[in-house]
Formats: sequence, structure tokens, C-alpha cells
Amino acid sequence: MDIEQIFENNKKWIAKQLQTNENYFDELGKGQSPEFLYIGCSDSRVSAEELMGLQPGDVFVHRNIANMVPNTDLNSMSVINYAVMHLKVNHIVVCGHYGCGGVHAAMQQSDLGILNPWLRNIRDVYRIHRKELDALTDEEEKYKRLIELNVQEQCMNVIKTAEVQKANRERNLKVYGWIFDIHSGELIDLKIDFDATLKNIMSIYKITD
Ligand SMILES: [Zn+2]
Repeated sequence: MDIEQIFENNKKWIAKQLQTNENYFDELGKGQSPEFLYIGCSDSRVSAEELMGLQPGDVFVHRNIANMVPNTDLNSMSVINYAVMHLKVNHIVVCGHYGCGGVHAAMQQSDLGILNPWLRNIRDVYRIHRKELDALTDEEEKYKRLIELNVQEQCMNVIKTAEVQKANRERNLKVYGWIFDIHSGELIDLKIDFDATLKNIMSIYKITD
């Protein structure tokens, strides 16, 4: 693609937005108050707003390789802090996707340099759920299940933060685990029982009164 095309696209987009609402950019410029925080994969095929049918201003977005929320990652921790404490979102979504290259790479025996410590977090998810995953003989099935379990574990990492625990108590903030099925376009709710998960892990991870 010609990079100049991007600027042409931008001009067309501005015209289109103004055609539907002449105050569009005045309103956009006033500030944001999104209701959702979306944490997803950087994969170019999984564009957050588009797959949810949402518009600019609707969702605060954080994307990285394999939709991770590592406990020591300053980036994702800052995003969660800002979204919960300042934007006051009440819904946090961790969205994985089938066909995730990051999860696939973590299932291989290869040295990927700087990616190693990042992908090690996914290997840890495998270790936690080793019994279930090793029992799956079909490689594709195992791959899909690890993608789902990774979402589940990242939801737990979100719940482990003090901000989320506090906001859950004060205003009933909830965390959801979703999968985007890249082969059908379907968004699947993993139906993680948030209350049960919270209760289960709080005896270890409770850090607020
Ligand atoms: Zn991915």
C-alpha cells in the first residue's frame, strides 16, 4: 500500500464523519468517558472497535502480543490503573483470538530472543493447566484451549490488582474473558464466572480491605 493513501483515506473519513454529524470533532475534542477497557492482541486482524461495532470514544484500548497482563508489566498495569481510577470504566474485557501467533510461538521449542520473557508468561499458563492440556491429543484442540486458558489467566491477573478489587467492591466493576474466532468473525464469551473466580483467588490475592 502507498503510504500517501493513508492520508487520502483520512481526508475521506473526516468528510464522512462531518456529513453524519457536523459537530463530530467538536464533541470528540471535549474528552473521553468510555465505559469499557478492552485488552486484546496486537494481531492486525483483531481490531477492537470494529469487531465490537463501537466508535471512537467508546472503548479504552490496550493491545500487546497475545493479550497479556503480566503482573510486572508497567504498561498494562498503568492502563488498568488509568482506566479504573480515572476513566471509571465498569467493564474490563480481556479478548484473545483463535489463531494467535503469540500463543503458537509459546508452544514451540525455539529461541526468539527478546520475545522469550514475554512468551514465558504463556508457558506459565500451560504449566498451571498442564494436566488438562497434556490430555488433549489433537494439536489444534490443544492450541485453542491454551488460547482460552490464557484469557482466563489474564483475567485473573486483572483481578489481582488493587484498583480492580476496590472498584469491584465500590461500584461493581466486572471482568470478562472473550475469544474472537478469526475463522468466523464471531465473538465468544468464555463465561468466566467472575464472582466465583474472585472469591476463589481472593484468599491469596486480596490486597485491599
Ligand atoms: Zn494474537
